[in-house]
Amino acid sequence: MTLNGYCRFLTICTLIFPKTLCFLPKQQRVLLLSFDGFRWDYIYKFPTPSFHDIIKNGVHVEQITNVFITKTYPNHYTMVTGLYAESHGIIANEMYDPVLNETFSMNHMTIYNSKFWEDAYPVWITNQMQGHRSGAAMWPGTDVQIHGAFPTYYMHYNESVSFEDRVAKLIEWFISEESINLGLLYWEQPDEKGHLWGPNNPRMKAVIAEIDELLDYLVQELKKAKLWDTLNVIITSDHGMAQSSADRIIELDQYVDKDLYTMIDHSPDVAILPVEGQLDAVFSALVKAHPHMTVYKKEDIPYRLHYRHSSRIQPILAVADEGWEILQNRSDHFELGNHGYDNILPDMHPIFLAHGPAFRKNVSKQTMESTDLYPLLCYLLGIEPLPNNGSLEHVKDLLVSAAPKEPLDRHQEESYAYYSGIVLGSILVLGFLVMFVKHLTRSQVSAMWIQNTEIAQPLLQS
Ligand SMILES: [Zn+2]
Repeated sequence: MTLNGYCRFLTICTLIFPKTLCFLPKQQRVLLLSFDGFRWDYIYKFPTPSFHDIIKNGVHVEQITNVFITKTYPNHYTMVTGLYAESHGIIANEMYDPVLNETFSMNHMTIYNSKFWEDAYPVWITNQMQGHRSGAAMWPGTDVQIHGAFPTYYMHYNESVSFEDRVAKLIEWFISEESINLGLLYWEQPDEKGHLWGPNNPRMKAVIAEIDELLDYLVQELKKAKLWDTLNVIITSDHGMAQSSADRIIELDQYVDKDLYTMIDHSPDVAILPVEGQLDAVFSALVKAHPHMTVYKKEDIPYRLHYRHSSRIQPILAVADEGWEILQNRSDHFELGNHGYDNILPDMHPIFLAHGPAFRKNVSKQTMESTDLYPLLCYLLGIEPLPNNGSLEHVKDLLVSAAPKEPLDRHQEESYAYYSGIVLGSILVLGFLVMFVKHLTRSQVSAMWIQNTEIAQPLLQS
């Protein structure tokens, strides 16, 4: 076989056994769970034995650096796309798209307009395009048709469906004949109570205790279904929560005429669309209006926030300091807890725990980016990620090895095929090297012979 022939053979083998020859990880199953608004330090402030059990037997990242703005929809879409908000297009819970001339609002059915979501492909679609099945219980965006697809199995969003019913559905999908390899689970607490009372309120102790019980319920149900030891379970959140106060309110009406602009998104990140021709007037009126409010023209939003390159980001953005609220005036509704502030603030950071065959045990690290979750998910699922702002390298230290293996008691035959593939792959690579060295040696010998002839020739002539 010639060197070219061997290369062709190797290419064909790579196509036939891609996972073996490229040493991609064995496909594993993943359940991703978000407790909305679960701040990273709740597990230290309140008794949370279920969380701590998982930390002892799995991995723990103390604080996730999430993306700006630190609100629900942008961050849930970042977790499943690995993109900053400006790139995946869900830049706020409330937004206006001047190209579509449409408004997206979590309080209305407008979130079901597919066009808002189609700047990116979420992981469930990529998973399905690569031959797998996904299941989603209320994860934001999973009941929206995106690029013509829904998750293989999903629930229509309904806040009144209990955590227990959501868990039951996911388990059913994981153990069914046509089983899923990716499950997404969303729960509304402790965000709602955090907004209502503020994170510093002693009543949050009971809220977090209830979530700890829900986590224990999930673990027990997964054990009953014999999934706990084979499933990789990731528990995280979209953002933290900061304490607000009626003493820390900034009223825009005190500084600028409300007829000069439309307020698109609300405190603490106020997206301002000025009336045509009034941009400079509105900006000048607000830029130095209050010491606890930073006002940017869109093009001057700091690069580190990755919040500039989208037509849905409005010409002016006003951001409050932590704990402050920006309202039109005091008649506006406001709550004692809020999030959305700068993503460098620790109080905005969510929790991250993971347990399962792919994850190390009793391992902690300080931080990771929420954009790193997507490449991690793709790696575990054995699927090719789309371009993203994260990096698997940042989180590889959480994994048992660079190539996590499926436990032998499940898919044993596949494991044998995997190792046989590695042996076959190694033989092919060695064979290729031998052929290459032989080819190289032969070329060098002939080159030396030609070279010697060229040197000898003039001598012979002289
Ligand atoms: Zn949220």
